Amino acid sequence: MKADINEFISKLENRTPGEKEFHQAVEEVIGSVWDFYQKNPRYQQANILERMVEPERVIMFRVPWVDDRGEVQVNRGYRVEFNSALGPYKGGLRFHASVTLSILKFLGFEQTFKNSLTTLPMGGGKGGSDFSPKGKSDGEIMRFCQSFMSELFRHIGPNTDVPAGDIGVGGREVGYLFGQYKRLKNEFTGVMTGKGLGWGGSLIRPEATGFGAVYFAQHMLHRIGKDIEGQKVAVSGFGNVAWGAITKINELGGKVVTISGPDGYIYDPEGISGEKIDYLLELRSTNNDVVEPYAAEFGAKFIPERHPWEVPVNVAIPCATENEVNLNDAKELVKNACYLLAEASNMGCMADAAEYLSKNIDYAPGKAVNAGGVAVSGLEMSQNSMRISWPREEVDARLKLIMSDIHERCVSYGKNGNKVDYIKGANIGGFVKVADAMLAQGVV
Ligand code: NAP
Repeated sequence: MKADINEFISKLENRTPGEKEFHQAVEEVIGSVWDFYQKNPRYQQANILERMVEPERVIMFRVPWVDDRGEVQVNRGYRVEFNSALGPYKGGLRFHASVTLSILKFLGFEQTFKNSLTTLPMGGGKGGSDFSPKGKSDGEIMRFCQSFMSELFRHIGPNTDVPAGDIGVGGREVGYLFGQYKRLKNEFTGVMTGKGLGWGGSLIRPEATGFGAVYFAQHMLHRIGKDIEGQKVAVSGFGNVAWGAITKINELGGKVVTISGPDGYIYDPEGISGEKIDYLLELRSTNNDVVEPYAAEFGAKFIPERHPWEVPVNVAIPCATENEVNLNDAKELVKNACYLLAEASNMGCMADAAEYLSKNIDYAPGKAVNAGGVAVSGLEMSQNSMRISWPREEVDARLKLIMSDIHERCVSYGKNGNKVDYIKGANIGGFVKVADAMLAQGVV
C-alpha cells in the first residue's frame, strides 16, 4: 500500500511544480498524520490523503479595472474550492501583491483542517488576488472589488461557497464585494461573512481571530499551571488579528511589548494598551504605516529590519503573515526563556522553526490557534440563516466554548506523556472528521 511518505511528497511535488508554500503545508500535515493513516487501512483503501491534497475546483480569472488616472489595470483573481465534505466551502479572500496560486492552495488546504476543528459544518476554501488595496483610493478599491465579484458571483452562494476577509480584505472590501453580488444576483443572502453589523454581520467577528487566539493560549497556559495575567507578550503585525489579540491580552492582565510591520518592529516596555491602541487604529484607518509614527508619538523604540522575537518575553503570538518566524528567531525565543508560542498567523513559523519550537517549548500551529475567526464566521452564517442577531455575550460565550473544544481535541490526539504535540493533535483532530465524511460520501 502507500508505504512511503517521501514517495507521496515527491509525487505531489511533480504534479504541482513550483508551489512551495503548498508543499510546505502538505508536508507539515502529512508528517504528523502518516502513522495514524497507516494504522487505519480504511482511509488508505479509499485514497483519502491523495484526494485531500487535490482541490475539488480551482477558478482563475482576469480582473480588469480602471484606476483614478483613467488607465486600465489588470490583476488575477482566484478561488480555490478545496474540500466540501463537511459543508459549503468556507475561507477568506486575500488581496495582496504577494498572492499566488501556491499561497492560496496552502491556505485552502489548511482551512479544511481548521474548519473541521471548529466542529461547525464548513468545508475549506480560499481565494484572492495579487491586487493590493494599500495606497489605492476608495474608488479604485470599489471598482476592483466590483470587477472581481463580476466573475466570482457565479461560483459562490450561501449553500455553495461563502468567502470572508483575510489580509487586505476588511469591512470596506467585504462591503463592496457583497454589494456587487447582491446587485448581480438580485438577492440578499449570507453569501459572505465579515459583513457590517447593520447589514448581516455578527458581533465579535472583527475581534474573533485575535480573541480566539488568546483564549487558546490561555488554555495552553492553564495546562502548564500558568495564566496570561502578568505575562510579557510579543505580538507581530498590527492588523486585524493583532488588534484583537492585543485587546484581549490587556483585558486578561497581560502586557504586550511589541508590534511590527514589514519594515521592523516597535519595542514599548511600558506596554501597548488603552489610548495607544486607539492611536494605532486611527493610523490604520487612514491607510498610514503604524509602526514608525507610533514610536515617535509614544517615545518607544523602533528597530528597523528586524523581527520582534529577539525581545525577552514569556509568550509570543505571531499575528502578521506566513513564515514570519525563522529558525534563528525560534532559537532566540527559547534562549530568552519564552515558554509558549501560539501562532495566530497562518503558517507563521517556517517548518524548521516550528519543529524546533515544538521540541523545546509549548508551540501550537495557526490552524488551531486562529480558528476563532472562521468559527465566528460560521456563527454569522447561522445567524443569517435564522435571520436573527445574537448579543455580544452569546457570540463570545460560543467562541470561548469552541476554542476550548479545539484545545481539548489537540490534547486528546497530541498528548505525549506530560507534553502535548499540538501540531499532531491539530492535524489528526482535523483530519479524522473530514476523512470520515469523505468515506461516507463515496468516491466523489
Ligand atoms: P491584516 O489586517 O492585513 O494585517 C497584517 C499585518 O501584518 C499588518 O500589520 C501588516 O503590516 C503586517 N505585515 C504584513 N507583512 C508583514 C511582514 N512581512 N512582516 C511583518 N509584518 C507584516 O491581516 P490580518 O487579517 O490581521 O491577518 C494576519 C494573519 O492572520 C494572516 O496570516 C492571516 O492569514 C491570518 N488569519 C486572519 C484571520 C482573520 O480573521 N483576519 C483569520 C485567520 C487567520 P502593513 O499593514 O504595514 O503591511
